[in-house]
Amino acid sequence: AKRAGRNTLRWFDSDQEAEIKERAILEDEIRQGIDGDEFLPFFQPLINLETGETSGFEVLARWRSPRRGLVEPVDFIAICEASGMIAALSMNVMRKALIEAKDWPAHLKIAVNISPVQFRDPQLAERILKLLTETGFPARRLELEITEGSLIEHPEQAITVVQSLKNNGISIALDDFGTGYASLTQLQALPFDRIKIDKSFVATIGESEQSAAIVRTIASLGKLLCVPITAEGVESETIRQQLADAGCQDAQGWLFGRAVSAQFVRDHFDLPAEG
Ligand code: C2E
Ligand code: CA
Ligand code: CA
Ligand code: CA
Repeated sequence: AKRAGRNTLRWFDSDQEAEIKERAILEDEIRQGIDGDEFLPFFQPLINLETGETSGFEVLARWRSPRRGLVEPVDFIAICEASGMIAALSMNVMRKALIEAKDWPAHLKIAVNISPVQFRDPQLAERILKLLTETGFPARRLELEITEGSLIEHPEQAITVVQSLKNNGISIALDDFGTGYASLTQLQALPFDRIKIDKSFVATIGESEQSAAIVRTIASLGKLLCVPITAEGVESETIRQQLADAGCQDAQGWLFGRAVSAQFVRDHFDLPAEG
């Protein structure tokens, strides 16, 4: 039994070794991919629930890897965050998205995700403002999606960065609301322009009275604070109706459209004419 145990342990070790190697290979490929311009923005429509019209797009990174095909964020964001590559990746994808969306109708907002790790950089606001100058994308059409994780590590620095972005006309959304702690405290500390309800509550609103109650509570909180609420992960008409009834202003999800390439937006989106 002892020997079997040792064998098991040895096998486990070599499995672990293989995993570490595989992860190092992936990290290397990601680094080359960032340098080689393999990461690109996809765009998912944001829908105004009252009018049914597209009010903007959320930018979601995709990796067109020559070896792995089209890779989704679950396979690279955490690795980028852990290895110091997330700022380069996010800024690269944001730059491409802004260049692309600059000529889309002016009422369409572009929402970009910012990782908590990026908030360790005290120059974050300056870098984003520089990107706006370089691309010519107007600040009032940009919304940054941050999570409360961004406000936990260095709250004072994060608040300064957010305030300087807001002073320059950029909107700030609180993403994944309801999944963390101390959410109400953070709502007080910063005047968010939007709150996004995490899809884990939205998806189960029909089956779980608890989820339904959470969604209704966040919606009335939004009303109280005069902050519009976006529900993400809307997959069915039933859910869309429940969200509208609860008083959510905007929605996002597969019911309306998945994240698609810029080319797809240009070819298939009936972008209303400007003016
Ligand atoms: P997120 O910001 O919460 O983005 C929403 C995620 O929900 C996206 O996943 C989107 O494709 C997915 N989604 C949208 N509608 C539905 C739906 O109806 N049903 C379901 N089941 N899912 C839906 P995605 O594209 O895989 O992105 C995952 C996460 O990766 C994002 O979560 C965001 O936190 C992060 N991320 C993506 N792009 C970037 C980026 O450029 N920079 C940074 N820092 N993070 C990014
Ligand atoms: Ca996904
Ligand atoms: Ca987001
Ligand atoms: Ca989210």
